[in-house]
Amino acid sequence: MEVIQWPDSRLLQIANLIDVSVTPPEEIEEKIEAMKLVLSEETHGVGLAATQVGWMRRAFVMVHLDGECTSYKSFLNPEIVKQYGDTSLDWEGCLSAKKAAQLQVRRFETVDLRWEDLVCGELVSREETFSGLNARIIQHEVDHLDGKMYFHRVPANVRNSMLKKAYPPVSTRLSSGPSKEEIMLKRGKRKNRSR
Ligand SMILES: [Zn+2]
Repeated sequence: MEVIQWPDSRLLQIANLIDVSVTPPEEIEEKIEAMKLVLSEETHGVGLAATQVGWMRRAFVMVHLDGECTSYKSFLNPEIVKQYGDTSLDWEGCLSAKKAAQLQVRRFETVDLRWEDLVCGELVSREETFSGLNARIIQHEVDHLDGKMYFHRVPANVRNSMLKKAYPPVSTRLSSGPSKEEIMLKRGKRKNRSR
C-alpha cells in the first residue's frame, strides 16, 4: 500500500460512502488495518485518508491522542456534523505532498463527528466531540475525502507560490526545453561520432 503523491488527480476526487453490500466487511477491515500500518510503521504520520492510498471510499485512520495514551482509531463514513468554537492557525503538512512546504491552516477548535464502526459485519453509527489537535486532524482528513488538500485552505497567493516552488508546472518545464548548451553538446557528440 503506497501513499499517493500530489499532483495525482485521485487526491482531487470525492470519495464514495462505504457500503457493506458493495465492499465485504472483511475487505474493509483489511484495508483499515493496512492503512493503520502505513500510518504507524511506514510514515509515522498522524492521519491517513483512504483516498491517499487509492481506496476511493470515505474512511480515515488517525493517531488518537488522549492524554499520554496514543492509539490508532479508524473512522468509516465520517461526517462533521458541526464545527464551532474559536478558529486557530497551525502548521500542517501532508503525507501526500512530501515535497510541499508546511503551511499555516485555519481550523475550528471543536468538531462534532458522526461516523460508523464495523461491529459483527454491520455498520454502527457513532458520534463524539473532538477538540484541539484531534479536531484539526479530523478536519484535514475529511477534507481529503472531499478532494481537498490542506493547501486549498490557505489564500490562493500563498498556495500558488508554495506549489510553484515544490512542483514546477509541467508547462513551464516543457516550454523551457533543453538549453542551448545541451543542444550544442548533443550536436557536437553526433558530429564526433560521424567522423
Ligand atoms: Zn493529508
